[in-house]
Amino acid sequence: MSSQWIYMSGEYVKKEEAVISVYDHGFLYGDGVFEGIRVYEGNIFKLDEHLKRLYDSAKSIMLDIPYNKEDLEEIIAETVRRNQLETAYIRVVVSRGKGNLGLDPTSCANPRLVVIAEALALFPKELYERGVRLASVSSRRNRPDVLPPQVKSLNYLNNILVKMEANQAGVDEALMLNDQGYVTEGSADNIFIVKNGTIFTPPTYLGALEGITRNAIIDLAEEKGYKLKEQPFTRHDVYVADEVFLTGTAAEVIAVVEVDQRKIGDGKPGVVTNHLLSEFRKVTTTDGYKVYSKDQAHVS
Ligand code: PMP
Repeated sequence: MSSQWIYMSGEYVKKEEAVISVYDHGFLYGDGVFEGIRVYEGNIFKLDEHLKRLYDSAKSIMLDIPYNKEDLEEIIAETVRRNQLETAYIRVVVSRGKGNLGLDPTSCANPRLVVIAEALALFPKELYERGVRLASVSSRRNRPDVLPPQVKSLNYLNNILVKMEANQAGVDEALMLNDQGYVTEGSADNIFIVKNGTIFTPPTYLGALEGITRNAIIDLAEEKGYKLKEQPFTRHDVYVADEVFLTGTAAEVIAVVEVDQRKIGDGKPGVVTNHLLSEFRKVTTTDGYKVYSKDQAHVS
């Protein structure tokens, strides 16, 4: 089997040799930002939007990404090409870099960029047909004035803790509320509910990442003539919704059929959810950055 190549600040190295310093503040303190991006048949879906979010996250934590957007796009595309991938998952990480043991980032002179691209095992088809189960968890979403959930930082402990709670409850995903009791998101996906034909999703200021898939679904729903509102809602609204679904790079659009042991609708993926999933899949191969453009020899 050929090696997997990983981009690390200026060079492509073999997976086995892709190591970073234990003094990197990304490792010591979770000081850095990242993106998870998907490639569909050679199309890096919504690459522009992912990079905008990456630069915004970095700006928020005063981390200078030492590459401009065009260079970064090319590095990401080249990482996909080098690994001869068509359908893949990409992880872009920018850490504060190597410093001393103190948490002050001024000791870190060079932020580090890592790009990993690997073949993606798709979620099984049965999961989309069956839907997923959620449980609301006791850990609350980070308050936006503590650690803004809009920043996709390397500090994912909040999300990890709720994922563990969901595992303990024996369900697929956590339903996270904010400190006021309003619904925010899952551990790694945004949430939507459908009631009497209107689609609702929480505003991100309540405590949610501004998901790229979330935004794509908002655009598609509006394009297809659905009424959509970004509006706060509670667990009760979720329990009595006609449909509930999650969105995310990994999950795409997936139905939720049970929340806190309440059956949602008739307990099966709903028509709006299925419609939006099929519309979403139509744009995944076209909306984005083409890795193998016409003048680029296709190697696989
Ligand atoms: N919320 C959180 C906390 C996430 O980690 C993710 C995954 N990036 C999402 C929502 C979904 O965002 P996206 O559609 O950009 O993958």
